[in-house]
Amino acid sequence: MINNINNKSLSCPVCRGRSPKLVTEKNGWTYYRCRPCSLVFIHPQPSPEFLAAKYQEYLPDNEDRIRDWRLSMEEVIRKSAQLIEKERGPGRILDVGCGYGFFLDHMAGRGWQVEGVEISPLGRAYAARHFPALKLRETPLPDPDLPSNYYEAVTLFYVVEHLPDPIRVLKEARRILKPGGVLLLRWPHSTPIVRLLGPLGRGLDLYHTPYHLFDYSPRFMEKTLADLGFESIRTTIAGNTRPRDRLGRWSSMIFGGLGEFLSRVTGGRLLLPGVSKTTVARKIPSAFPSSPKNQR
Ligand SMILES: [Zn+2]
Repeated sequence: MINNINNKSLSCPVCRGRSPKLVTEKNGWTYYRCRPCSLVFIHPQPSPEFLAAKYQEYLPDNEDRIRDWRLSMEEVIRKSAQLIEKERGPGRILDVGCGYGFFLDHMAGRGWQVEGVEISPLGRAYAARHFPALKLRETPLPDPDLPSNYYEAVTLFYVVEHLPDPIRVLKEARRILKPGGVLLLRWPHSTPIVRLLGPLGRGLDLYHTPYHLFDYSPRFMEKTLADLGFESIRTTIAGNTRPRDRLGRWSSMIFGGLGEFLSRVTGGRLLLPGVSKTTVARKIPSAFPSSPKNQR
């Protein structure tokens, strides 16, 4: 059993904390949780070649499933737009991992100048066909061609859990944002449900093994963004996705709906663990880097 491998020499890829705790194992892939910083990470990380091959089949190309995806994201898209516009009026927005372009299409309708980065040719082709006004890029971040201090908003929906080096990408998001610009991250928060359901949760495969290289906590996300030079950082639920398959939908309705309800009635103080989260932050308008702490 892979569970028996010696993890004493294993360290957290972000804080270097030692002896992480085993969370779960599926199809030979193992997830560990770092005790000091709470980050959950897959170990060993799949190779870039392996992931590149797997991602060829990641986005569905069937029109019905794409329409389902759009419907399942509608509430999240609308609430995300509202969160951004609380901070900044319409301007330039870059959606990193824009997929089929649904969020950008929505933002264009609200008066934003929209650009997207999408590494999937299928996603780009769909977005170009349906939303010809979108400006699409294919180079993943960091991309030296992107100007510094340029965008009013940068968004990543269900992207940070897939990145082999999320810190590097978040630094790049900060570089291209204008001072005071808004970063919005939408990310799954699966570990509490994985731990709660135990073996029952295996069928749900909430880490979408091995696609999710990391699973974050609000504490980890907020500390990381503060260290990188963001302020006014807050994490909310801001809408639920509605997966179309029965098990996934059940999980989203139970954990998602209840979580949103509890968050609302407690004025945002109580976030039920184990539903997707949205973190919004503003780029600190001072010079960067400002302290050695920022040098990860
Ligand atoms: Zn750590």
